[in-house]
Order: sequence, then C-alpha cells, then structure tokens
Amino acid sequence: MIYEKDAFSGLDSREAERRLKKYGPNILESREKISPLKIFLQQFNDFMVWVLIAATLLSGFMGEKADAITILIIVVMNGILGFIQEYKTEKSLEALNSLAAPTAKVMRDGILKVINAENLVMGDIVIIESGDRIPADCTLVEDFSLMVDESLLTGESVGVNKSSRKQENIYMGTTVLTGRGKGKVISIGMKTEMGKIAGMLQDIEKEQSPLKEKLNSLGKVLVILCIGICIVVTITGISRGHDKYQMLLLGISLAVAAIPEGLPAIVTVALALGVSRMLKKNALVRRLPAVETLGCTSVICSDKTGTLTENKMTVTDMYFNDSFHKLEKESMYKNPLLKKCVTYCSDCNVNFKESTLERALSGDPTEKALIKAFAKDGRDVKDTLDKGRRINEKPFTSDRKMMSVLIKEGVNINIYLKGAPERVIDRCKYVIIDGEARLLTSTYKSRILRAVETMSFKALRCIALAYKPELNYRDGSREYEENDLILIGVAGIIDPPRKEVKEAVFKCKMAGIRPVMITGDHKNTAFAIGKELDIVKNEEEVITGEELDKLDDKGLLKIIDNIKVFARVSPNHKLRIVKAFKNKNNIVAMTGDGVNDAPAVKEADIGISMGISGTDVTKEASSMILLDDNFATIVSAVEEGRVIYDNIRKFIRYLLSCNLGEVLTMFLASLMNLPTPMLPIQILFVNLATDGLPAMALGVDSADIDIMEQRPRPKNESIFARGLKEKILIRGTLIGVCTVGAFIMGYRYNMDLKTCRTLALCTLVMSQLIHVFECRSERHSIFEIKLFTNTYLVLAVGFSIAMVLSILYIPFLQKIFHTVPLSLAQWCIVLFLSGIISFVNSLYLLLWNRRR
Ligand code: ADP
Ligand code: MG
Repeated sequence: MIYEKDAFSGLDSREAERRLKKYGPNILESREKISPLKIFLQQFNDFMVWVLIAATLLSGFMGEKADAITILIIVVMNGILGFIQEYKTEKSLEALNSLAAPTAKVMRDGILKVINAENLVMGDIVIIESGDRIPADCTLVEDFSLMVDESLLTGESVGVNKSSRKQENIYMGTTVLTGRGKGKVISIGMKTEMGKIAGMLQDIEKEQSPLKEKLNSLGKVLVILCIGICIVVTITGISRGHDKYQMLLLGISLAVAAIPEGLPAIVTVALALGVSRMLKKNALVRRLPAVETLGCTSVICSDKTGTLTENKMTVTDMYFNDSFHKLEKESMYKNPLLKKCVTYCSDCNVNFKESTLERALSGDPTEKALIKAFAKDGRDVKDTLDKGRRINEKPFTSDRKMMSVLIKEGVNINIYLKGAPERVIDRCKYVIIDGEARLLTSTYKSRILRAVETMSFKALRCIALAYKPELNYRDGSREYEENDLILIGVAGIIDPPRKEVKEAVFKCKMAGIRPVMITGDHKNTAFAIGKELDIVKNEEEVITGEELDKLDDKGLLKIIDNIKVFARVSPNHKLRIVKAFKNKNNIVAMTGDGVNDAPAVKEADIGISMGISGTDVTKEASSMILLDDNFATIVSAVEEGRVIYDNIRKFIRYLLSCNLGEVLTMFLASLMNLPTPMLPIQILFVNLATDGLPAMALGVDSADIDIMEQRPRPKNESIFARGLKEKILIRGTLIGVCTVGAFIMGYRYNMDLKTCRTLALCTLVMSQLIHVFECRSERHSIFEIKLFTNTYLVLAVGFSIAMVLSILYIPFLQKIFHTVPLSLAQWCIVLFLSGIISFVNSLYLLLWNRRR
C-alpha cells in the first residue's frame, strides 16, 4: 500500500460528503429500536402486579378509595424506577454497539483515512487487507495474493482468489483471508449483495446471561414459595375473623412486595453499568455474559508484541558482512542494499508531506523501525520507492513469519525478502561478504545463527533481510519463488516492555491468575522479556512451537502447568494451547490480532482482540476488545468482572434477606395469633422505600479492598455459594423476629394498634437500611470498610429515611399510611431493634478478622 505513483487517490472529501447526503449511509437496515414507551409498559408486564391492581380496584369500589389510589401510585412509582434502570441499560448497550461499529480504510483527498464504514459512498477507493471485513460491494482495482472468504454469501467455506485483472467484484460482509487489495465501491447499504439477503444481519448478539437465566428459574421457585406463604397468611387471617377483602389485599400486597421480581433485571443493569465502567478503562465488552465469566479467569494467555510490550520498535543492532555493527545513522543511510530491502519490503504508509520520518510513517511498527534505521527522511524513502515498482508480493503471515516482494527496478527485476532468521536462512544460498555474494557455507550459517542467539538474548527481535536478482523473469509474469536468495544481514530491534505490565502481572499472581506469554518471536527474545516482566523464571518454563509439534495432546496436558512462555508459535498452536488449558479446568482468556487467531479467540472462555492492531475478523470472534492493546487492561477488566459479580451477590444478599424479613414478619405474626403487624399499603411502602434505590446503589458499589487477593471463583459455582445462602436465611429470619419484636413491645407497653404498626414499619425499614451497609462487603465488617464511600448508597438511604419521616410526620401522609409520629423513646426502641443484629454481627466479624 506504500506510495504508488499512479495510485488511485480517491474522492475528495467534499464530493464524498455530497454523495453521502444524496444517497444515504452505507448501512443495512437493522431491526427496530426499542421505544421508551415499550420499556415503560414492560415494567407492568408481571402477573402479580396485575393481580394487585385488580384487587386494589376491587377494594377501591368497596370503600377504601384513598388506599386504592395510593397503592396504584406506588405501583406506578415502582414501574418508573424499573423503567429508569432499564432505559439506562438499553442506552449504554446501544452506545457500546455503535462503538463496535465497523470501520473502513479509504483513500480520500489522496491520503489513507480510517472512517466509519457507514460513511462510505459510491466511487470511494477502499483498501482491504487480511482480516478485514469488506465494507461495501467493490470492483477490484488492485490486488496482491488476495483471497477472500465468501462463505457468508455462498455457503462455500473455501477461500476464493480474486484478481483485479479480471475486474472481479468483492462483496460486503465477506472477509479477507490473505493478501490485500484496493477496490472501488460500486454499491452500498441495502443495494449490496448482502443487503439483498438482509435478515441474517449481524448485530451484537443479545445473549441471555447464564446468571440471569439461573435467577429467572430461582425467581420461579421464590414466587411459588411466596405465594404459598401469602395464602397461609391470608387464610389464617380470615379464619380468625379479619375482614376478607382486607386480608386478600394484604396477601397480594405481601406477594408483590416479597417476590424479588426485579432481580434478573437488576443483574442486567449491574452488568451493563459495569460494562460502561470497563469501557472507561479501555476494555470494550462485546458480549454481556462475558462480564460474568471474566471474574473467573484463571489463565490469561497474552500476545507479547504490543500487548506486553510497547510496540514502539527501534533497530539497535545489525549483523552483516560477518560482523556486528552498532547502529550509526550516517553509515546506515549509505548502505543502499539494506535501504532498498527494507523500503521495498514494507507496507508502511508514507506521507511525504510530513517533516520527520517518525511522523511520516504509519503502519507495522517492525517495518517502521527498519525504515527509520536505513532511510534519512521522507525524501529518501520517496526516491527509493520511485526507482522501483512492486509487481507482486507474498504477504507476511504469522505462520510463514516472513514476506517478500517482486520489484521492477529499471530493467531489472529483483526479489526482496525479510523475516524470522531461521526461516530466511533456509531460503538463502549466498551471503554478502565484502560487497560480493559468497556461498553461504555452514560456517557462515552457524555464525549468523549465533549472532541471532546473541541478539535475541538481549530481548531483541531479529529480522533477516535477503534479496535476489530475478534472472529468469518473463515479462508480464508475476510468478516467483522464494529460494536461492542472497542474505544481506540481520537487524535486531528492541521493543521495550510496557511499564504498567509488571504491576499487572504481580496483581495477577496475587489474584491466583496465571499470566502466560504467547509469541511468534524467538525463544530467547520471549524469555528475556518474560523474565523482565516476572512472567517466567527459568528456561524450562519456555516451550517453542517446534517442541509443541512433537507433543501429542496428552503430552501437552502433562507439562502445560509448568509453561509460562510459548515462543515461535503459529496461530494454530494457540488453539491447541487454549484447549489444553481448558482441559485442565481453567477459565482461559486469550488475546489475538491476526485473522488466523480468530479460532483460538473464539474457543477461549474470554476471547480478547486488539482495538489498535486487531483485524475485523478477530474482533468479531472476541468477547472483549482492548482499545489500547494493553495487557494491564485485561487485568483491570478481570478485576472489574470480579467487582460486578461481587456487586450482584451484594444486592442478591440484600434483596433476598430483606424480602424474607418482610414475609416472615407477617408469617410469624399470624403464627403467634397477633393482629396483622402491617397494612397492605404499609407493606407496599416498605417495599418501595427499601428495594429499589438501595439495591441499585449496591449494584454500582466499589470493590472490596482485597478483591484481587482472592482466588478466582469456579465458573459453575452457584451464586449462593460461600455462605451466601446461610447469610440470607439467618438475616431474613432475624429481621422478621426483630420487627415482630417491635410490634409486641408496643403491645406490651399498651400502645394502640396504629403505634404498634408504625413501630413495626420503622423497624422493618431501618433494619434493612442498616443491613444494606453490611452487604457492601462479605469478608469485612462495617467497622473495617469505609462506610460512606458509595455516594449513591448514602443518597438512596437518605432518600428512604426521608420517605419514612414524611409518612410519619406529614399529617396528610399519616392519614394515608395509617401512621403516627413516634416519640424519642419509641425511636430508641426502633433503632435498637434494627441495629442490634448488624452491630453484633459486625463486631463478631471484626474480632474474627483481627485474630487471623
Ligand atoms: P509476535 O506478534 O508474537 O511478536 P509475529 O508473528 O508478529 O510474533 O512475528 C514473528 C516473527 O516474524 C518475528 O520474530 C520476526 O522475525 C518476524 N516478523 C515480524 N514482523 C515481520 C514483518 N513485518 N516482516 C517480516 N518478518 C516479520
Ligand atoms: Mg505480531
């Protein structure tokens, strides 16, 4: 793609703008968006809510009009709360969708630009390379070894060769397997072949999260249980001579309050909000359920180049003419053969208008580094390029680990090749010594290989350079063989590790996660960098692709626990590695960038692709995209995954123990033959004040301090594991007991029924509002965590308290909710009964933690 004299310079941007306006964007009409109204109405799509509304209307006609209206208002308010949650979720998911939208490389105003594929217009010149998804239907105008996968259109899964000489078309939605090319857009949007078969449109899949599904089925069990209890409460009430309608309404209200119908929805909210938090840390999640799995990650397999390292490469050492050369700029510029080789053998884009070479170059960092070492400035590169025309090329793939070009220089035709030294040497027959080509004897060969060893031990990435005058060239032919070449030299390139990575590796180890490096680079280079990052200690923990090939799957399983670095591997090894780790019951996160990495990325529990260097195909196979290609981002995403899961556990704990408390209050009272301790309207009030906002605030809580010091949780672990079920059952019971206790206490002191009920209501609400702070941590007491760091929670609790105070002290609301103002002494009873359990429990936890 590098500078070509008569390259198609593309549309100018004003013309493109005009066409975009006239013909519209390049999109396939996707399914309709969910309207806010529909989301709002969905909030009432719940059987129990309808039963409640029916019963309320019924009781309204029987007389209790104020009650009925209040109940309806509460129901609507609950609906609004649910709506806000869900709408926000939809919006943030929509934003994610647009972030993950496809892009296209296009020539505009004579320079290469990356634009949103949506903005492509007819006549645009697009550039496609391996791993790209083709953004519109095009006629090829240029091609190099281009092969595309058209299975999406034809069902045929073999690659198809495409040639510009035959003016073949390439189609939107199909992908480039190898090579690259240029195409002129001939149709866009619904007019493309793909548009014609629209319906099989690709969108980010709306997968159900497994956790949500589990909660859905748990919900069904809870519904039956709750309804059972409510029936018991209703029937006992009626049998004791209470008013029938009143008891019926009570039972139904209780059911509505106690059934945690919002649970699955709130899980989605927590996941979606977590996803937007992760986005701020540069991790773009493509599949919601992946967030759940992230927290379980036990192995992170990471690419080296660009993920663990900076991808800012510089040539530091050279080996040629049978000796080492420190890189001295001036002499390097004057080495014409090296200069030609690196310049022709490069797919970098050069923008000659830029002043410095550093700014002028964009593209593969390895190639940038090479050009920078051997060319002085943009002019220099241009001069070289002007003298040669690329006739054909054999592209770089991670399997081949080399690439070559066929260049016409004046009357001569030359092949230039560069790649991993072992591979290149195999193709060489001669070597340049003192300016002439000599036979590459085994002595020369072993000396070169030794030089490569030396450089790679210094963490240098080695690239061998070679060329050959193509004497047998037949005019017009594009065929050539990569053999009998003349070795020019070997370049050693430094690519320093990213600074943040070392700490991230340390964090991984604390968290029981194993970081593993996978690279196409030389064993020594990989080892040197791995050691610097503390990923690997000794050389036995490094294995090469070649050694892997000698192992069968069983053999691999035997040793894989000891391997920290996989070097000189190809993409197909990655698939084996993922499978082996999975076989060992690991939850594997695996990164990939090239088109051939897609299968391994897909196979991994968490497939991760690169936002900067990744290809479309790999991105589409992945469940998460690293916008900054950074290993540290993976670790913070895993941490965020753990936080989200923890938060889900937090509000499940809170919601279920509180709802249990509510049900048990009514149940115990009816067992003990007491008057009903709360009226239907009061129960609905308690539900409104405690369930919505505080639970939501827990969903966005910050991480527990030691979250990255825990081992990863097993993937199939129940959400109630590690004592959560017991915590819920015990606390729910105690809340019920204390609430009934408050009611009885009032009774004992001869307070009237209204006051007793108010006592019970306040105790029930307050014990939940205190308990919510305990729920912020499973391992630490409220004395150990910073209590008020979750602003949302503080606000939510404050709001709930204000609600309670207003129904107690505003006369108009007193009447509606049948409450009375409490005296200071009565408040003391309430606060004592609602705080005592939290206090004792926290004290116990504190002492227990101290002793450890
Ligand atoms: P990784 O991405 O893990 O570093 P690669 O597959 O990119 O591994 O590279 C493997 C080897 O291929 C490198 O060690 C180098 O010798 C060679 N290589 C890398 N990039 C290029 C390139 N652009 N042209 C030629 N050879 C290359
Ligand atoms: Mg690479």
